[in-house]
Amino acid sequence: MERVVESIEVPCCFAENGCTQKIAYFNKKKYKKACRHGPCFCPEPGCGFSGPAATLPDHFTDCHKWPNTAFKYFAQFGLRLQPGPHVLRAQDGTVFLMNVVAAEPLGHAISLVCVRPEATDSPFGCSVVFSCFTGHHQISTLAVVRCSSLVDGLPKDGFCVVPKASGGTHVVLQTTIDTELVYDVED
Ligand SMILES: [Zn+2]
Ligand SMILES: [Zn+2]
Repeated sequence: MERVVESIEVPCCFAENGCTQKIAYFNKKKYKKACRHGPCFCPEPGCGFSGPAATLPDHFTDCHKWPNTAFKYFAQFGLRLQPGPHVLRAQDGTVFLMNVVAAEPLGHAISLVCVRPEATDSPFGCSVVFSCFTGHHQISTLAVVRCSSLVDGLPKDGFCVVPKASGGTHVVLQTTIDTELVYDVED
């Protein structure tokens, strides 16, 4: 009897979110926590929207008018320093959220998370370069980008601080997000 129960495979709890995994019945609870199709949350206070990570960029843009930028791994892209959240979409559909907050009296603090239901470390790293004065560059790197379902709100890790003296919102952040995984980049 026990063996029969162990061999039963059931669809994942998040099948309606697009998950095609079949899981051994006894693993269902464990798998639920690791499934990439689990819900992520809108961090805007009072909003209450939740859904698979892939549905968040449209929500952020349509409902909150947050800026939205598509990028490719390993390729530098420019972002104007602007307080508030900024949605970053990778070529494989992975969603990142950058958050810029005024950190008085220092300047602006920049945080970044990978939007995923499982609260683990991602295989992604990030580096930000900006110029303060002609010929002077400052670099911040984040070795491992944390994953977050955003259930605890906007990221506030602040891995990079842009000093006030460097020109405030005139600064362009040259950002690179890398992955340890090998991707087939279609060009
Ligand atoms: Zn699943
Ligand atoms: Zn929302």
